[in-house]
Amino acid sequence: SRKVPSLEESLAYRNQYLSSILSVSYSKPIKMEGAAFQYMYDAYGNTLLDAYNNIPHVGHSHPKVVEAGQRQMAKLNTNTRYLYDILPAYAEKLLAKFPPSLNRVFFVNSGSAASDLAIRMAKWHTKREAIMVMEHGYHGNTQISIDISDYKFSNPKGQGQKENILKACLPDTFRGHFTENNGIAGRAYGEEAIQQMQMYSQPIAAFITEPIVGCGGQVPLANGYLEALYPAIRKLGGLCISDEVQTGFGRIGDHFWGFQQYGIVPDMVVLGKPMGNGHPMGAVVCTKEIAESFEKGVEFFSSFGGNPVSCAIGLAVLEVIEEEGLQENAKKVGDYYKSLLEALQKKYDCIGDVRGSGLFLGVDLVKSGTKEEDPQLAKLIKNELRERNILISTDGPKDSVLKTKPPLVFTKDNALQVVEEMDNILKRII
Ligand code: PMP
Repeated sequence: SRKVPSLEESLAYRNQYLSSILSVSYSKPIKMEGAAFQYMYDAYGNTLLDAYNNIPHVGHSHPKVVEAGQRQMAKLNTNTRYLYDILPAYAEKLLAKFPPSLNRVFFVNSGSAASDLAIRMAKWHTKREAIMVMEHGYHGNTQISIDISDYKFSNPKGQGQKENILKACLPDTFRGHFTENNGIAGRAYGEEAIQQMQMYSQPIAAFITEPIVGCGGQVPLANGYLEALYPAIRKLGGLCISDEVQTGFGRIGDHFWGFQQYGIVPDMVVLGKPMGNGHPMGAVVCTKEIAESFEKGVEFFSSFGGNPVSCAIGLAVLEVIEEEGLQENAKKVGDYYKSLLEALQKKYDCIGDVRGSGLFLGVDLVKSGTKEEDPQLAKLIKNELRERNILISTDGPKDSVLKTKPPLVFTKDNALQVVEEMDNILKRII
């Protein structure tokens, strides 16, 4: 029989060619062999429950998505300088998911490329350079994306905040300075951001944020915040961008897009991760006016953005979400999962907050009875769960928030298993 290299051998092999700046998850890494729906299989015969990965949105290796890609790959793969109907067909189906004002789409190959393009288009449209960004926000790995990502530029090892970047304070109703999440805190945070904009040396081209700030530790924006802020930005001639890379495509349950949760409509939307269920896809969706401004510049071309294989895959993803009722499942299972986590919070005062919507949840770990972050405990729980073959991760400015955002085929039994194991771990150590 075939000898499977050990974890140490596999790591050494990788380190021969790849930089250590690429991180590996968990104290004891996992060597992956395969995956199906919400399960992953390691090289040593273990099945892992995936409560973490949001890229395989409709499930790892979903057969309909795989088949759509295989079939199109065998037939034609080319670029948007030729005509093929699957491109407008996919664009039509995707744009049907948006409010009518958002009716133009530009396809690229990653969330980073989409953020980068959105900022470039916003600057071009407004003829301005400044961007207002969200504290702890993350939007990608290109130079522009890093420039607008506080999570990266404010890191001690980061490049620092550029002069054309204005940073809004995270409207966090758990740990922030306004906590009444009945609209009062949201309006107060909104008012602060408006004042910052008014006092800033230059008018802003755009404001970009996620609806629930993932790298900030799964922090939903305070209710009423965007409602207060968006009209003020527009009054000052700026554009509003929603990064839906993490929150889009039905994950939050109640809505297909995260921004809908706040009853506002952005001018531009950034898409990525779940769009191709793991196949590299990203997009900028915007208004006709913004697209028309961009058309006055030099040609925009992406070698791979909008290719027929990507379109076939993207179309299959949208069909599976509908056919399998996955947004509804995110709502049903997400509500149940959150209720189990809230019950666990009542039992252990090291759980400071349980937040998020649908299958996009965060568990904020604290030093008992305080709001002081407890990254050691978060790390311990994450690694203990890994020992029990459950995948979750940690994030947030102090890395103290357990992050769970599984494929949308996750079941109530899966949720129960995760929370029972968390309970077993906490029982033993507290
Ligand atoms: N925006 C958000 C909110 C993200 O979470 C990410 C990726 N983590 C990106 C943009 C960048 O996407 P990609 O890694 O596909 O370039």
